[in-house]
Amino acid sequence: MKENFAKDLREYSCPLWLKWLLCLFGTVVLVSCSRGTEAQPKAWFEPQPLTRTTPPTPPETAPSDSAPLLHIDAKRAFEYTREVTAFGPRYMGSENHKKLERYINDHLKGDQVEDDAFTADTVEGKFPVRNIIAKFPGTKDGIIVILGHYDTNYPLRNIGYVGANDGGSSTAILLEYANQLRGGGSAKTRDGYSVWLVWTDGEEAVRKWSDTDSLYGARHLAEKWEKDGTLKKIKALLVMDMIGDADLNIDRNTIGTAWLLDLIYAAAERLGYQSHFYAREGPIEDDHLPFVKRGVPSADVIDLDYGYNNVFHHTAQDTMDKLSPKSLQIVGDTTLETIHLLDQR
Ligand SMILES: [Zn+2]
Repeated sequence: MKENFAKDLREYSCPLWLKWLLCLFGTVVLVSCSRGTEAQPKAWFEPQPLTRTTPPTPPETAPSDSAPLLHIDAKRAFEYTREVTAFGPRYMGSENHKKLERYINDHLKGDQVEDDAFTADTVEGKFPVRNIIAKFPGTKDGIIVILGHYDTNYPLRNIGYVGANDGGSSTAILLEYANQLRGGGSAKTRDGYSVWLVWTDGEEAVRKWSDTDSLYGARHLAEKWEKDGTLKKIKALLVMDMIGDADLNIDRNTIGTAWLLDLIYAAAERLGYQSHFYAREGPIEDDHLPFVKRGVPSADVIDLDYGYNNVFHHTAQDTMDKLSPKSLQIVGDTTLETIHLLDQR
């Protein structure tokens, strides 16, 4: 059972035209390209999930930035991760999930908070889903959105799965971003774009990853924001996922916008953290996907190499002892610098 879940099924499937093109080069390639069956995840690049790359050289147009470097309080973010993880399994509809909703809202007292709540009709029945959105207004016209999911997997609810990294770290780092954006408690407008933090719900599949069984919260939000015109105002959208691994290797997720991926790298480089970025690249489906599909500039900050061969991912081994405050520092500082570089654009 674990194995099925341990294999992340978020890989991207081929577009139709590419399948036809590949067809010219032989049916073997075409078969490996087809969508997965029950027994097989829909990964088209297996057995090598991600390819090794030489780290990118910074783009010639890398933005220059002489402003002082910003730092998150990584010890505090790590403590949040510990507290979130201590709730235990936090799958949609569970008591622990409700406790965590309250925990997040308690940390956002005094902030501008909005809920995007609905009922998801899934292969395992109906589930309440709630995206929590905190808005930090800016002087510039436009929005930077940062997403991170806070749910854990329904299928793993009975194995003692606590998702310290997958679910815990993303929840916690967004809480720390809120501290930074709030700027000492005064509700002042930030000098730059508005920043919206979104704790997404229902990122995980309730049975088996597919287009319809995954990303419940993000899909709902993307649709809603398309209808109400919000999408057009988004300058950049970043996803934080599995960013606490002590052995931090952020993948270059090729489902995403190249200039934004490069900007994140430039930010990491300015902080001297570039060795933790982009040693591997490949397509990974995550909460940004519904926004990518709608043309929003998006990037997924994810380390899908959690333990040797990703062995801790979606297992009871995803616990606090595998994480480090240093990794939260690296991702947190890089994200703050990325926001700063975006503000200048
Ligand atoms: Zn997951």
